[in-house]
Amino acid sequence: MNLQMLFKELQLNADSPGSSDGATWIPTPNNSSISSINPATGQALGKIQTTNNETYEKIIVQSQKAFLSWREVPAPKRALLIRELSELLRQHKTALSTLVSLEMGKSLQEGLGEVQEMIDMADFAIGQARMLYGLSMHSERERHRMLEQWHPLGIVGVISAFNFPVAVWAWNAFLAVICGNTVIWKPSAKTPFCAVAVQQLCLEASRRCQIQHIFSLIVSDEIAFAENFVDDSRIPLISFTGSTPIGRMVGTRVQNRFGKVILELGGNNAIIVDETANLKLAIPAIVFGAMGTAGQRCTTTRRLFLHKNIAQTVCDNLIAAYQQIRIGDPLDPSHLMGPLIDQNAVDQFEQAILIAQQAGGQILFGGKKITQPGFYVEPTLIRAKNEWEIVQKETFAPILYIMEFDHIEEAIAQQNAVPQGLSAAIFTQTLAHSELFLSATGSDCGIANVNIGTSGAEIGGAFGGEKETGGGREAGSDAWKLYMRRQTCTINWSNQLLLAQGIQFNYS
Ligand code: NAD
Repeated sequence: MNLQMLFKELQLNADSPGSSDGATWIPTPNNSSISSINPATGQALGKIQTTNNETYEKIIVQSQKAFLSWREVPAPKRALLIRELSELLRQHKTALSTLVSLEMGKSLQEGLGEVQEMIDMADFAIGQARMLYGLSMHSERERHRMLEQWHPLGIVGVISAFNFPVAVWAWNAFLAVICGNTVIWKPSAKTPFCAVAVQQLCLEASRRCQIQHIFSLIVSDEIAFAENFVDDSRIPLISFTGSTPIGRMVGTRVQNRFGKVILELGGNNAIIVDETANLKLAIPAIVFGAMGTAGQRCTTTRRLFLHKNIAQTVCDNLIAAYQQIRIGDPLDPSHLMGPLIDQNAVDQFEQAILIAQQAGGQILFGGKKITQPGFYVEPTLIRAKNEWEIVQKETFAPILYIMEFDHIEEAIAQQNAVPQGLSAAIFTQTLAHSELFLSATGSDCGIANVNIGTSGAEIGGAFGGEKETGGGREAGSDAWKLYMRRQTCTINWSNQLLLAQGIQFNYS
C-alpha cells in the first residue's frame, strides 16, 4: 500500500488538524504544528496542527457536558459504541497497522499485533460492560442491607507513549467509556498520525451511534501544555504511560490535586534460564524479547541471568540467532527489526554501550549504530554485572546485558535488584524453581512468566508493574475498577435507628 492510498483510506492529510472534540475536527492552522517523522528514513510523513489553549478549553467543556448524559446511558448500551469502533478497526486493520509501522518503526507483524490488541480489548470491554459488578454484604444490624456499587468518574485523560501508539489508548479508552466516562487523549508527539487515524474511526463510530464528544483528541509537543492537562482538576483521572522520570512528576502533580492516577512506566525486565531449561523455548523467547520493536517495549528483555553450566551454550545460540536477524525497513516482511524512533534514541544507545564498556562490559554481538538513512542500530549482547548503574537503568534500545549465576535463589534476588518491577520470566523444567519464582519470595514484578518471555502480554490479564514502574494496572481482570468510583451503601428498612458497633446515643 503506498502512502497516498494509506492516507486516503485512513482519511489523513499531509497537514491534518490534531484537535477533535469527539464530534468534528477543529482546525488550528495558525497555531504551530509538529512534523511526523518516518524513523525508517528520517523523512517527514506530514504535519499535524497542534492544539491551542482556546481549543483545549472548548474540548474540555464539551467533554464535561457529554459526561453528564453519558453516565446515564446503561453500560451495555455504551458498549455499542465500542462495538462500532471494533468493526471499523477490523475493517481498517491492515491500513492502521501499516501506519503504526510507518510512524513508529515496528515491523508490520508487530503493527498488526498492536491493532489486533485493540480489537481484543474492544471485545473484552463489550463483555465487561455487562459485568460492572458490585458486592453485597451482610449488615451487622437487623433489617439493614449493605452493598457496594461503582459509578463513573467524569473525564479520563490518557497520555500515551510513542512505542504503542494506538494499543495503550485502547486499553484505557475502551474500559473508561463502557464505565461511563468520556476520554481526552494526548498521544506522543512522535506518533501523532496514528492518533489522528484512530480519532477518524472514533468520529465515524460516534456518527453511527448518533453520539458526540465521548472521544476527544489533543496534540501538542509543548511541556507546558502537557502539564496544564495533568494539573486540570476537571479531569478526575489521568492515565499516564511513559518514562519513569516524567511519570514520577505526573503522579505527584495529580495526587497534589487529589486526582486519581494510573502510572504505566519503565521496565528493566529479566529472564532467568536455569540448568534444566528447554533451550528450544528459551532462545527464541530471549531473541524476540530483546530485539522485538528494536528493544522499545516497556516489557523488552534487558537482562539475562544464565546458569553457569549452560551460559556458554546459550550465548553461542544467541549469537547465531542474532546473526540471522535482518534489520531494515519495517514494512519489508523479511526484516524482523526496524529502526529506533529518532536520533536521540540512537545517541542514548551509543552512550549506554560506551558506559557499559567503560565499566568492563564485554560486547558479544553488535554495539554500533548502522550507517544508513533512518535511525538503525545493531541489536547488542553484552556480558555485564547487574549492579552497574547502566544495567540498573532502562535504555530504550535493543541492548541485552548477560549475567551468570550458581543458585536459583541468587538469580531471583538479582532479577529483583533493580528499581523497576514490570515483567520477569524464568525458563525451567524444574517445578520447584518455577514455584519459587512465582511465590511471595520470588519475582517482585507485576508480570511473572514461566517458559514464556517477558514481552507480549495478552489483554485478559491486568497489565502493569511495581516499584518505579508505577503500580498501575490496565486492560483485563478487574482493571475496570480504576476507571470508576466505589460507593458503599447501607439501607435501613427497619423502624429503628440502630448505630453501628452497638453505640447508644439516647438524648431524651
Ligand atoms: P515519555 O515519558 O517521553 O513520554 C510519554 C508521554 O508523556 C508522551 O505523550 C509525552 O508527550 C508526554 N509528556 C512529556 N513530558 C510531559 C510532561 N512534562 N507532563 C506530562 N506529559 C508529558 O515516554 P516515551 O519515550 O514516549 O515512551 C517510552 C517510555 O514509556 C519507556 O520508559 C517505556 O518503558 C514506557 N512505557 C511503559 C509502558 C507500560 O505499560 N509500563 C508501556 C509503554 C511505554
